[in-house]
Amino acid sequence: MADMAVPTSQAGTTGQARATSQAGTSSQAGTSIRAAAPSEAAQCAIRVRGLRKQYQGATAVAGIDLDIERGEIFALLGPNGAGKTTTIEILEGHRRRDAGEVSVLGADPARADRAWRARIGVVPQTQTRTGELTVREMVSHFGAYFPDPRETDKVLDAVGLSKQAGTRLRRLSGGQLRRVDVAVGIVGRPELLFLDEPTTGFDPQARRRFWDLIAGLADDGTTILLTTHYLDEAATLASRVGVLAGGRMVAVGTPADLGRTDADSTNDADSTNAAGGTGGTDATSTVSWRAADGMRSVRTATPTQCVLALAREAGTEIPGLTVTRPSLEDRYLELIGASENGAER
Ligand code: ATP
Repeated sequence: MADMAVPTSQAGTTGQARATSQAGTSSQAGTSIRAAAPSEAAQCAIRVRGLRKQYQGATAVAGIDLDIERGEIFALLGPNGAGKTTTIEILEGHRRRDAGEVSVLGADPARADRAWRARIGVVPQTQTRTGELTVREMVSHFGAYFPDPRETDKVLDAVGLSKQAGTRLRRLSGGQLRRVDVAVGIVGRPELLFLDEPTTGFDPQARRRFWDLIAGLADDGTTILLTTHYLDEAATLASRVGVLAGGRMVAVGTPADLGRTDADSTNDADSTNAAGGTGGTDATSTVSWRAADGMRSVRTATPTQCVLALAREAGTEIPGLTVTRPSLEDRYLELIGASENGAER
């Protein structure tokens, strides 16, 4: 693996390219969604079947399946209390499960040994730190636990803490402390990195820099499982995302494909004009234009065909033409809303 260097490429480009190049099977809302295996189990960094966890009789994880391919960046999304941290802690071997099969880098985390631990990196949601250590001491202290650690100064450079190397932890800001957590997570050169809400408290510039760092690690072959409440972060970085709600995986897919619906609706009765019918399934784009009697719009799975048909009919520029696709945030909110409505019924 190449050593640490913050890549100059934009994480956005890298992430999106990865999203299209990797198998991004998309699944749809339901009670038991399987994060469909992109390839054989042997290639999976993480394989989960029927994972369940209860706390004092209350269900936190209600039977989830998940396959994460080696080298993939997978983002676990979901509202507060959805079960993300519980799931990730079980995969890290930090929490016991009640039921289900779990394989992480070929081992059951509940029984994994020290050699297995050295192959994973963890950035937990909350961290206990020793405030009297300097940033450099902290990172090199953790590096010493690993057989082949990265150079401390290169790690500090990668997370943007070179200037604070000699500063005691108690003097750092919240965002700087979070970067120390990330540095500790990657210093052991992990094959698999767990990041639980890694950029909480980062300023926008630090988040961009972090995205570049994560994309660079993935390009070097590190598998990454992250949870985040920032949907732009998931859309930029992840090859696939999974949405957890009420302990169930309600959708899995590429950020672009996530939550494709069978909805096939128009918000205009005039769907028999040149724009055509909306094509059956996956009506995820909206084509709008100005007709003689006002604005028209149609939802379609084939916006290019729709625009071509409109252009043929118009024979000239189509006034007010726009094509919009739902963002990951639109889809996420739809899925969570549907899940909450289902739970209330
Ligand atoms: P957030 O986005 O707020 O971090 P999350 O998706 O990570 O949420 P979890 O922390 O996994 O969710 O919590 C799932 C459910 O389990 C919640 O209802 C939470 O209250 C409960 N829970 C989590 N940890 C414990 C615990 N140690 N004891 C009892 N209940 C817990």
